[in-house]
Amino acid sequence: MLDYVSDKVQDETRQGEAFSPFANDPNQYKKRFYIESYGCAMNFADSEIVASILNKEGYGATSIIEDADLIFINTCSIREKAEQTVRKRLTEFKKLKKVKKEMLVGILGCMAERLKSKLLEEEKLVDIVIGPDAYRSLPGLVAEAEGGQKAVNVLLSRDETYADISPVRLDSNGVSAFVSIMRGCNNMCSFCVVPFTRGRERSRDTESIINECKDLFEKGYKEVTLLGQNVDSYYYIPQTSMGDVTAPPITFARLLEAVANISPELRVRFSTSHPKDITDEVLHTIARHENICNYIHLPVQSGSSRVLQLMNRTYTREWYMAKVDRIREIIPDCGLSSDFIAGFCTETEEDHTETLSIMEYSRYDFSYMFFYSERPGTLAERRYKDDIPAEVKKRRLQEIVEVQNRLSLESNKRDLGKIFKVLIEGDSKKNEAEWKGRNSQNKVIVFPKEQYDLKKGDYVQVHVFECTQATLLGKIIK
Ligand code: SAM
Ligand code: SF4
Repeated sequence: MLDYVSDKVQDETRQGEAFSPFANDPNQYKKRFYIESYGCAMNFADSEIVASILNKEGYGATSIIEDADLIFINTCSIREKAEQTVRKRLTEFKKLKKVKKEMLVGILGCMAERLKSKLLEEEKLVDIVIGPDAYRSLPGLVAEAEGGQKAVNVLLSRDETYADISPVRLDSNGVSAFVSIMRGCNNMCSFCVVPFTRGRERSRDTESIINECKDLFEKGYKEVTLLGQNVDSYYYIPQTSMGDVTAPPITFARLLEAVANISPELRVRFSTSHPKDITDEVLHTIARHENICNYIHLPVQSGSSRVLQLMNRTYTREWYMAKVDRIREIIPDCGLSSDFIAGFCTETEEDHTETLSIMEYSRYDFSYMFFYSERPGTLAERRYKDDIPAEVKKRRLQEIVEVQNRLSLESNKRDLGKIFKVLIEGDSKKNEAEWKGRNSQNKVIVFPKEQYDLKKGDYVQVHVFECTQATLLGKIIK
Protein backbone atom coordinates (compact mmCIF):
# COMPACT_ATOMS: atom_id res chain seq x y z
CA MET A 1 0.00 0.00 0.00
CA LEU A 2 1.15 3.48 -0.84
CA ASP A 3 2.23 5.27 2.32
CA TYR A 4 4.51 7.93 0.97
CA VAL A 5 4.03 10.43 -1.76
CA SER A 6 6.49 13.05 -2.78
CA ASP A 7 6.80 15.15 -5.84
CA LYS A 8 10.41 15.83 -4.92
CA VAL A 9 11.54 12.89 -6.97
CA GLN A 10 15.24 13.35 -6.32
CA ASP A 11 14.86 12.42 -2.65
CA GLU A 12 12.78 9.33 -3.37
CA THR A 13 15.28 8.11 -5.92
CA ARG A 14 18.07 8.39 -3.34
CA GLN A 15 16.41 5.71 -1.19
CA GLY A 16 18.65 2.67 -1.07
CA GLU A 17 21.42 4.52 -2.83
CA ALA A 18 24.84 2.94 -2.56
CA PHE A 19 27.94 5.02 -2.26
CA SER A 20 30.42 4.75 -5.06
CA PRO A 21 34.14 5.00 -4.46
CA PHE A 22 35.20 8.58 -4.64
CA ALA A 23 36.79 9.73 -7.87
CA ASN A 24 40.56 9.31 -8.25
CA ASP A 25 40.88 7.71 -4.82
CA PRO A 26 44.64 7.14 -4.66
CA ASN A 27 44.55 4.88 -1.60
CA GLN A 28 45.05 1.13 -1.45
CA TYR A 29 42.59 -0.56 0.85
CA LYS A 30 42.87 -3.77 2.79
CA LYS A 31 39.11 -4.41 2.50
CA ARG A 32 36.01 -3.02 0.83
CA PHE A 33 32.71 -1.87 2.30
CA TYR A 34 29.37 -1.31 0.64
CA ILE A 35 26.86 1.05 2.27
CA GLU A 36 23.24 1.63 1.36
CA SER A 37 21.17 4.43 2.90
CA TYR A 38 17.46 4.95 3.54
CA GLY A 39 15.37 7.67 5.13
CA CYS A 40 16.04 11.34 5.74
CA ALA A 41 18.98 13.52 4.71
CA MET A 42 20.50 13.07 8.18
CA ASN A 43 20.99 9.38 7.43
CA PHE A 44 22.72 10.14 4.14
CA ALA A 45 24.99 12.60 5.97
CA ASP A 46 25.67 9.99 8.68
CA SER A 47 26.70 7.44 6.05
CA GLU A 48 29.37 9.92 4.96
CA ILE A 49 30.66 10.04 8.55
CA VAL A 50 30.68 6.23 8.70
CA ALA A 51 32.60 6.14 5.40
CA SER A 52 35.16 8.53 6.88
CA ILE A 53 35.60 6.37 10.01
CA LEU A 54 35.99 3.22 7.89
CA ASN A 55 38.42 4.89 5.50
CA LYS A 56 40.77 5.67 8.37
CA GLU A 57 40.74 1.97 9.28
CA GLY A 58 41.79 0.99 5.78
CA TYR A 59 38.39 0.17 4.32
CA GLY A 60 37.54 1.59 0.90
CA ALA A 61 34.03 2.02 -0.50
CA THR A 62 32.64 -0.04 -3.34
CA SER A 63 29.32 0.29 -5.11
CA ILE A 64 29.54 -3.35 -6.25
CA ILE A 65 27.98 -5.35 -3.48
CA GLU A 66 29.60 -8.67 -4.54
CA ASP A 67 33.06 -7.10 -4.06
CA ALA A 68 32.37 -6.07 -0.47
CA ASP A 69 33.79 -7.61 2.69
CA LEU A 70 31.41 -5.51 4.78
CA ILE A 71 27.84 -4.61 3.87
CA PHE A 72 26.12 -1.82 5.78
CA ILE A 73 22.56 -0.67 5.61
CA ASN A 74 21.74 2.69 7.20
CA THR A 75 18.12 2.44 8.18
CA CYS A 76 14.98 4.47 8.85
CA SER A 77 12.17 3.68 11.31
CA ILE A 78 9.87 6.62 10.63
CA ARG A 79 7.13 4.50 9.05
CA GLU A 80 6.47 0.77 9.06
CA LYS A 81 7.00 0.65 5.30
CA ALA A 82 10.57 1.95 5.71
CA GLU A 83 11.38 -0.93 8.06
CA GLN A 84 9.79 -3.49 5.73
CA THR A 85 12.01 -2.31 2.89
CA VAL A 86 15.09 -2.83 5.05
CA ARG A 87 14.01 -6.30 6.16
CA LYS A 88 13.58 -7.28 2.54
CA ARG A 89 17.07 -6.03 1.71
CA LEU A 90 18.51 -7.95 4.68
CA THR A 91 17.12 -11.23 3.35
CA GLU A 92 18.77 -10.47 0.01
CA PHE A 93 22.09 -9.86 1.79
CA LYS A 94 21.64 -13.20 3.56
CA LYS A 95 21.59 -14.94 0.19
CA LEU A 96 24.87 -13.22 -0.73
CA LYS A 97 26.38 -14.34 2.55
CA LYS A 98 25.68 -17.95 1.64
CA VAL A 99 28.03 -17.54 -1.32
CA LYS A 100 30.64 -15.41 0.48
CA LYS A 101 30.65 -16.71 4.05
CA GLU A 102 33.19 -14.29 5.52
CA MET A 103 31.13 -11.27 4.39
CA LEU A 104 29.78 -9.31 7.39
CA VAL A 105 26.45 -7.50 7.43
CA GLY A 106 25.87 -4.51 9.69
CA ILE A 107 22.68 -2.58 10.38
CA LEU A 108 23.08 1.10 11.22
CA GLY A 109 20.80 3.97 12.18
CA CYS A 110 17.29 4.26 13.56
CA MET A 111 16.11 0.68 13.06
CA ALA A 112 19.25 -0.60 14.79
CA GLU A 113 18.51 1.74 17.69
CA ARG A 114 14.85 0.79 17.89
CA LEU A 115 15.23 -2.98 17.70
CA LYS A 116 18.68 -3.33 19.28
CA SER A 117 19.88 -6.90 19.81
CA LYS A 118 16.47 -8.26 18.77
CA LEU A 119 17.86 -7.91 15.27
CA LEU A 120 20.54 -10.45 16.13
CA GLU A 121 18.37 -12.84 18.08
CA GLU A 122 15.16 -12.95 16.09
CA GLU A 123 16.18 -12.46 12.54
CA LYS A 124 19.73 -13.83 12.44
CA LEU A 125 20.34 -11.66 9.42
CA VAL A 126 23.07 -9.40 10.71
CA ASP A 127 26.46 -9.53 12.48
CA ILE A 128 26.71 -5.94 13.66
CA VAL A 129 24.04 -3.63 15.13
CA ILE A 130 25.04 -0.03 15.66
CA GLY A 131 22.96 3.01 16.64
CA PRO A 132 23.39 6.59 15.32
CA ASP A 133 25.53 7.80 18.23
CA ALA A 134 27.95 4.86 18.27
CA TYR A 135 29.69 5.08 14.89
CA ARG A 136 33.10 5.78 16.41
CA SER A 137 33.02 2.27 17.85
CA LEU A 138 32.41 0.72 14.42
CA PRO A 139 36.03 -0.43 13.81
CA GLY A 140 36.01 -2.22 17.19
CA LEU A 141 32.68 -3.86 16.41
CA VAL A 142 33.93 -4.97 12.99
CA ALA A 143 36.97 -6.56 14.67
CA GLU A 144 34.70 -8.36 17.15
CA ALA A 145 32.45 -9.58 14.36
CA GLU A 146 35.47 -10.75 12.33
CA GLY A 147 36.42 -12.81 15.36
CA GLY A 148 33.05 -14.55 15.19
CA GLN A 149 31.21 -12.53 17.87
CA LYS A 150 27.95 -10.74 17.20
CA ALA A 151 28.61 -7.07 17.95
CA VAL A 152 26.14 -4.45 19.23
CA ASN A 153 26.46 -0.83 20.33
CA VAL A 154 23.25 1.15 20.55
CA LEU A 155 24.21 3.57 23.31
CA LEU A 156 22.76 7.01 22.79
CA SER A 157 24.88 9.97 23.77
CA ARG A 158 24.13 13.41 25.17
CA ASP A 159 27.10 15.04 23.47
CA GLU A 160 28.22 13.11 20.38
CA THR A 161 28.07 15.35 17.28
CA TYR A 162 30.97 13.85 15.27
CA ALA A 163 32.17 17.46 15.07
CA ASP A 164 35.78 16.53 14.34
CA ILE A 165 35.03 13.94 11.66
CA SER A 166 35.27 15.26 8.17
CA PRO A 167 32.69 13.33 6.12
CA VAL A 168 33.80 11.55 2.95
CA ARG A 169 31.63 12.89 0.10
CA LEU A 170 31.26 9.77 -1.94
CA ASP A 171 28.28 10.18 -4.20
CA SER A 172 28.14 13.93 -4.47
CA ASN A 173 27.55 16.06 -7.57
CA GLY A 174 30.48 18.21 -6.37
CA VAL A 175 28.17 21.25 -6.15
CA SER A 176 25.93 20.75 -3.12
CA ALA A 177 26.60 19.05 0.21
CA PHE A 178 24.81 18.35 3.47
CA VAL A 179 26.37 19.62 6.68
CA SER A 180 25.00 18.26 9.92
CA ILE A 181 24.66 21.00 12.58
CA MET A 182 22.88 19.14 15.33
CA ARG A 183 21.67 15.69 16.30
CA GLY A 184 18.66 14.23 18.06
CA CYS A 185 15.37 15.92 18.88
CA ASN A 186 13.81 17.20 22.11
CA ASN A 187 10.33 17.63 20.66
CA MET A 188 7.90 14.93 21.47
CA CYS A 189 5.58 14.92 18.48
CA SER A 190 3.31 12.08 19.52
CA PHE A 191 3.52 10.22 16.18
CA CYS A 192 7.30 10.32 15.90
CA VAL A 193 9.93 7.72 16.69
CA VAL A 194 12.93 10.05 16.12
CA PRO A 195 13.41 11.20 19.76
CA PHE A 196 13.69 7.51 20.72
CA THR A 197 16.06 6.48 17.95
CA ARG A 198 18.26 9.57 17.75
CA GLY A 199 18.22 10.69 21.37
CA ARG A 200 18.44 14.11 22.97
CA GLU A 201 19.06 17.21 20.94
CA ARG A 202 22.62 18.57 20.87
CA SER A 203 24.22 21.26 18.75
CA ARG A 204 27.55 20.86 17.01
CA ASP A 205 30.49 23.16 17.70
CA THR A 206 30.01 26.26 15.50
CA GLU A 207 33.66 26.50 14.53
CA SER A 208 33.70 22.93 13.20
CA ILE A 209 30.59 23.69 11.10
CA ILE A 210 32.14 26.84 9.64
CA ASN A 211 35.38 25.01 8.93
CA GLU A 212 33.55 22.19 7.16
CA CYS A 213 31.61 24.70 5.01
CA LYS A 214 34.79 26.66 4.20
CA ASP A 215 36.54 23.47 3.24
CA LEU A 216 33.65 22.47 0.96
CA PHE A 217 33.72 25.90 -0.70
CA GLU A 218 37.47 25.65 -1.24
CA LYS A 219 36.91 22.26 -2.88
CA GLY A 220 34.50 23.86 -5.36
CA TYR A 221 31.14 23.24 -3.68
CA LYS A 222 28.64 26.07 -4.16
CA GLU A 223 25.81 25.07 -1.86
CA VAL A 224 25.55 23.74 1.67
CA THR A 225 22.38 22.52 3.36
CA LEU A 226 22.57 22.79 7.15
CA LEU A 227 20.84 19.76 8.58
CA GLY A 228 19.03 18.93 11.79
CA GLN A 229 15.63 17.62 12.89
CA ASN A 230 14.86 21.09 14.22
CA VAL A 231 17.54 23.51 13.02
CA ASP A 232 15.93 26.60 14.54
CA SER A 233 16.67 25.36 18.02
CA TYR A 234 20.42 25.27 17.25
CA TYR A 235 22.16 26.74 20.32
CA TYR A 236 25.86 26.41 20.95
CA ILE A 237 27.82 27.82 23.87
CA PRO A 238 31.49 28.21 22.88
CA GLN A 239 33.69 26.86 25.65
CA THR A 240 37.14 25.51 26.39
CA SER A 241 37.74 21.81 26.92
CA MET A 242 37.59 22.63 30.65
CA GLY A 243 34.06 23.97 30.21
CA ASP A 244 34.88 27.70 30.54
CA VAL A 245 32.52 29.77 28.41
CA THR A 246 34.51 31.82 25.89
CA ALA A 247 31.83 33.73 23.95
CA PRO A 248 28.08 34.43 23.95
CA PRO A 249 25.79 31.60 22.81
CA ILE A 250 25.33 31.13 19.08
CA THR A 251 21.78 30.86 17.84
CA PHE A 252 20.66 29.49 14.48
CA ALA A 253 20.35 33.02 13.06
CA ARG A 254 23.97 33.77 13.97
CA LEU A 255 25.15 30.45 12.57
CA LEU A 256 23.31 31.08 9.29
CA GLU A 257 24.90 34.50 9.04
CA ALA A 258 28.38 33.13 9.75
CA VAL A 259 28.02 30.46 7.05
CA ALA A 260 26.62 33.02 4.59
CA ASN A 261 29.62 35.26 5.24
CA ILE A 262 32.07 32.60 4.03
CA SER A 263 31.44 33.80 0.47
CA PRO A 264 28.59 35.42 -1.47
CA GLU A 265 29.22 32.61 -4.01
CA LEU A 266 28.22 29.93 -1.48
CA ARG A 267 24.48 29.27 -1.27
CA VAL A 268 23.10 28.31 2.12
CA ARG A 269 20.01 26.19 2.70
CA PHE A 270 18.70 24.51 5.83
CA SER A 271 16.26 21.80 6.87
CA THR A 272 14.06 21.22 8.88
CA SER A 273 12.34 24.12 10.62
CA HIS A 274 9.79 23.48 13.33
CA PRO A 275 7.14 26.22 13.02
CA LYS A 276 7.29 26.93 16.76
CA ASP A 277 11.00 27.72 16.69
CA ILE A 278 11.64 29.75 13.53
CA THR A 279 12.20 33.32 14.71
CA ASP A 280 11.91 36.75 13.10
CA GLU A 281 15.66 37.02 13.56
CA VAL A 282 16.12 33.99 11.28
CA LEU A 283 13.68 35.44 8.73
CA HIS A 284 15.47 38.81 8.72
CA THR A 285 18.83 37.05 8.37
CA ILE A 286 17.51 35.21 5.29
CA ALA A 287 16.16 38.48 3.87
CA ARG A 288 19.47 40.30 4.46
CA HIS A 289 21.68 37.77 2.67
CA GLU A 290 21.23 37.12 -1.02
CA ASN A 291 23.06 33.79 -0.70
CA ILE A 292 20.79 32.39 2.03
CA CYS A 293 18.11 30.78 -0.10
CA ASN A 294 14.58 32.10 0.05
CA TYR A 295 13.09 28.77 0.84
CA ILE A 296 11.69 27.27 4.04
CA HIS A 297 10.51 23.73 4.68
CA LEU A 298 7.92 24.29 7.39
CA PRO A 299 6.05 21.03 8.09
CA VAL A 300 2.51 21.63 9.31
CA GLN A 301 1.40 17.95 9.55
CA SER A 302 -2.31 18.85 9.95
CA GLY A 303 -4.54 21.90 9.50
CA SER A 304 -6.75 21.08 12.47
CA SER A 305 -5.89 22.61 15.85
CA ARG A 306 -7.50 19.65 17.60
CA VAL A 307 -5.32 17.14 15.73
CA LEU A 308 -2.24 19.34 16.14
CA GLN A 309 -2.79 19.22 19.87
CA LEU A 310 -3.03 15.42 19.83
CA MET A 311 0.14 15.39 17.74
CA ASN A 312 1.79 17.58 20.40
CA ARG A 313 3.00 20.02 17.75
CA THR A 314 2.57 22.94 20.23
CA TYR A 315 0.97 25.35 17.73
CA THR A 316 -2.56 25.90 16.47
CA ARG A 317 -3.85 26.30 12.94
CA GLU A 318 -4.13 30.10 13.45
CA TRP A 319 -0.62 30.36 14.90
CA TYR A 320 0.84 28.51 11.93
CA MET A 321 -1.07 30.70 9.47
CA ALA A 322 0.27 33.81 11.23
CA LYS A 323 3.80 32.36 10.81
CA VAL A 324 3.20 31.92 7.08
CA ASP A 325 2.01 35.57 6.92
CA ARG A 326 5.17 36.68 8.73
CA ILE A 327 7.38 34.75 6.30
CA ARG A 328 5.62 36.31 3.31
CA GLU A 329 5.92 39.76 4.91
CA ILE A 330 9.66 39.55 5.62
CA ILE A 331 10.66 37.43 2.59
CA PRO A 332 8.00 38.15 -0.05
CA ASP A 333 9.29 35.69 -2.66
CA CYS A 334 9.98 32.85 -0.21
CA GLY A 335 9.46 29.27 -1.42
CA LEU A 336 7.50 27.18 1.09
CA SER A 337 7.04 23.44 1.46
CA SER A 338 5.50 21.15 4.05
CA ASP A 339 4.96 17.65 5.42
CA PHE A 340 1.51 16.15 6.00
CA ILE A 341 0.21 13.15 7.87
CA ALA A 342 -3.22 11.96 6.70
CA GLY A 343 -5.46 9.94 8.99
CA PHE A 344 -3.86 10.54 12.37
CA CYS A 345 -5.77 9.04 15.33
CA THR A 346 -9.36 10.34 15.63
CA GLU A 347 -9.05 12.57 12.53
CA THR A 348 -12.56 13.49 11.27
CA GLU A 349 -13.62 14.59 7.78
CA GLU A 350 -13.83 18.10 9.20
CA ASP A 351 -10.22 17.93 10.47
CA HIS A 352 -9.15 16.66 7.06
CA THR A 353 -10.98 19.53 5.31
CA GLU A 354 -9.03 21.92 7.53
CA THR A 355 -5.81 20.32 6.31
CA LEU A 356 -6.86 20.89 2.71
CA SER A 357 -7.75 24.51 3.46
CA ILE A 358 -4.45 25.28 5.24
CA MET A 359 -2.72 24.03 2.09
CA GLU A 360 -4.66 26.54 0.01
CA TYR A 361 -3.83 29.27 2.52
CA SER A 362 -0.10 28.53 2.61
CA ARG A 363 0.20 27.88 -1.14
CA TYR A 364 3.01 25.34 -0.74
CA ASP A 365 5.32 24.86 -3.69
CA PHE A 366 5.57 21.16 -2.88
CA SER A 367 5.07 18.77 0.02
CA TYR A 368 6.01 15.41 1.43
CA MET A 369 2.76 13.59 2.11
CA PHE A 370 2.27 10.47 4.20
CA PHE A 371 -0.45 8.60 5.89
CA TYR A 372 -0.19 7.84 9.54
CA SER A 373 1.81 4.77 10.45
CA GLU A 374 1.70 3.84 14.12
CA ARG A 375 5.18 3.42 15.58
CA PRO A 376 5.84 1.25 18.65
CA GLY A 377 6.83 3.18 21.77
CA THR A 378 5.64 6.60 20.60
CA LEU A 379 3.26 8.71 22.68
CA ALA A 380 0.49 8.19 20.10
CA GLU A 381 0.87 4.43 20.23
CA ARG A 382 0.59 4.47 24.00
CA ARG A 383 -2.21 7.02 24.26
CA TYR A 384 -4.46 6.81 21.22
CA LYS A 385 -6.08 4.21 19.03
CA ASP A 386 -4.95 4.05 15.39
CA ASP A 387 -8.64 4.19 14.47
CA ILE A 388 -8.79 5.53 10.91
CA PRO A 389 -9.33 2.67 8.44
CA ALA A 390 -6.56 2.21 5.87
CA GLU A 391 -8.84 3.01 2.92
CA VAL A 392 -9.90 6.29 4.56
CA LYS A 393 -6.27 7.24 5.22
CA LYS A 394 -5.45 6.43 1.62
CA ARG A 395 -8.36 8.44 0.23
CA ARG A 396 -7.50 11.46 2.39
CA LEU A 397 -3.85 11.23 1.37
CA GLN A 398 -4.93 11.14 -2.26
CA GLU A 399 -7.00 14.30 -1.75
CA ILE A 400 -4.00 16.02 -0.16
CA VAL A 401 -1.85 14.95 -3.10
CA GLU A 402 -4.36 16.29 -5.60
CA VAL A 403 -4.49 19.69 -3.90
CA GLN A 404 -0.69 19.79 -3.72
CA ASN A 405 -0.33 18.90 -7.40
CA ARG A 406 -2.61 21.76 -8.34
CA LEU A 407 -0.82 24.17 -5.97
CA SER A 408 2.58 23.16 -7.39
CA LEU A 409 1.39 23.81 -10.93
CA GLU A 410 -0.16 27.14 -9.94
CA SER A 411 3.03 28.15 -8.15
CA ASN A 412 5.12 27.27 -11.22
CA LYS A 413 2.74 29.18 -13.48
CA ARG A 414 3.24 32.28 -11.33
CA ASP A 415 6.94 32.05 -12.22
CA LEU A 416 6.40 32.22 -15.98
CA GLY A 417 8.10 35.29 -17.42
CA LYS A 418 10.42 35.69 -14.39
CA ILE A 419 14.21 35.64 -14.43
CA PHE A 420 16.04 33.57 -11.81
CA LYS A 421 19.64 33.12 -10.77
CA VAL A 422 20.21 29.38 -11.16
CA LEU A 423 23.00 27.24 -9.73
CA ILE A 424 23.84 24.57 -12.31
CA GLU A 425 23.87 21.10 -10.72
CA GLY A 426 24.58 19.03 -13.83
CA ASP A 427 23.06 17.67 -17.02
CA SER A 428 19.30 17.34 -17.12
CA LYS A 429 18.24 13.73 -16.67
CA LYS A 430 16.52 13.48 -20.04
CA ASN A 431 18.82 15.42 -22.31
CA GLU A 432 22.59 16.00 -22.21
CA ALA A 433 22.14 19.16 -24.25
CA GLU A 434 20.29 20.71 -21.29
CA TRP A 435 21.39 21.83 -17.83
CA LYS A 436 19.47 21.20 -14.62
CA GLY A 437 19.75 23.61 -11.73
CA ARG A 438 17.79 25.28 -8.94
CA ASN A 439 16.70 28.77 -8.11
CA SER A 440 16.84 30.25 -4.63
CA GLN A 441 13.29 28.98 -3.94
CA ASN A 442 14.52 25.41 -4.50
CA LYS A 443 12.62 24.94 -7.76
CA VAL A 444 14.22 22.79 -10.43
CA ILE A 445 14.85 24.65 -13.69
CA VAL A 446 15.87 22.92 -16.93
CA PHE A 447 17.29 24.89 -19.86
CA PRO A 448 19.31 24.32 -23.06
CA LYS A 449 23.10 24.66 -22.76
CA GLU A 450 23.26 26.49 -26.11
CA GLN A 451 26.63 27.87 -27.17
CA TYR A 452 27.61 29.12 -23.70
CA ASP A 453 30.76 27.84 -22.04
CA LEU A 454 29.28 26.89 -18.67
CA LYS A 455 29.92 24.06 -16.23
CA LYS A 456 28.19 22.60 -13.19
CA GLY A 457 28.69 24.85 -10.17
CA ASP A 458 28.27 28.01 -12.28
CA TYR A 459 25.54 30.55 -11.66
CA VAL A 460 23.49 31.70 -14.62
CA GLN A 461 20.45 33.94 -15.19
CA VAL A 462 17.55 32.00 -16.68
CA HIS A 463 14.32 33.33 -18.14
CA VAL A 464 11.41 30.97 -17.40
CA PHE A 465 8.86 30.62 -20.18
CA GLU A 466 7.23 27.22 -19.63
CA CYS A 467 6.54 24.79 -16.81
CA THR A 468 5.21 21.45 -15.73
CA GLN A 469 3.97 20.69 -12.24
CA ALA A 470 7.48 19.65 -11.13
CA THR A 471 9.84 21.71 -13.28
CA LEU A 472 10.38 25.17 -14.71
CA LEU A 473 11.71 25.38 -18.26
CA GLY A 474 13.81 28.33 -19.34
CA LYS A 475 16.44 29.93 -21.51
CA ILE A 476 19.79 31.43 -20.56
CA ILE A 477 20.01 35.21 -20.54
CA LYS A 478 23.46 36.64 -21.08
N1 SAM B 1 12.01 16.89 12.24
C1 SAM B 1 11.27 17.12 11.09
C2 SAM B 1 9.98 17.85 11.42
O1 SAM B 1 9.59 17.95 12.55
O2 SAM B 1 9.36 18.32 10.51
C3 SAM B 1 11.04 15.89 10.26
C4 SAM B 1 10.93 14.59 10.92
S1 SAM B 1 10.46 13.17 10.06
C5 SAM B 1 11.98 12.46 9.61
C6 SAM B 1 9.80 13.64 8.52
C7 SAM B 1 8.32 13.54 8.42
O3 SAM B 1 7.87 12.21 8.54
C8 SAM B 1 7.52 14.28 9.47
O4 SAM B 1 7.47 15.65 9.25
C9 SAM B 1 6.17 13.63 9.34
O5 SAM B 1 5.36 14.26 8.37
C10 SAM B 1 6.49 12.22 8.87
N2 SAM B 1 6.25 11.24 9.93
C11 SAM B 1 6.87 11.13 11.10
N3 SAM B 1 6.34 10.12 11.83
C12 SAM B 1 5.36 9.58 11.06
C13 SAM B 1 4.43 8.52 11.26
N4 SAM B 1 4.40 7.83 12.40
N5 SAM B 1 3.55 8.23 10.27
C14 SAM B 1 3.57 8.94 9.11
N6 SAM B 1 4.41 9.95 8.88
C15 SAM B 1 5.31 10.28 9.84
FE1 SF4 C 1 9.92 13.96 15.06
FE2 SF4 C 1 8.70 16.17 15.86
FE3 SF4 C 1 11.33 15.85 16.35
FE4 SF4 C 1 10.46 16.27 13.84
S1 SF4 C 1 10.30 17.70 15.56
S2 SF4 C 1 11.95 14.72 14.53
S3 SF4 C 1 8.51 15.19 13.81
S4 SF4 C 1 9.65 14.64 17.20
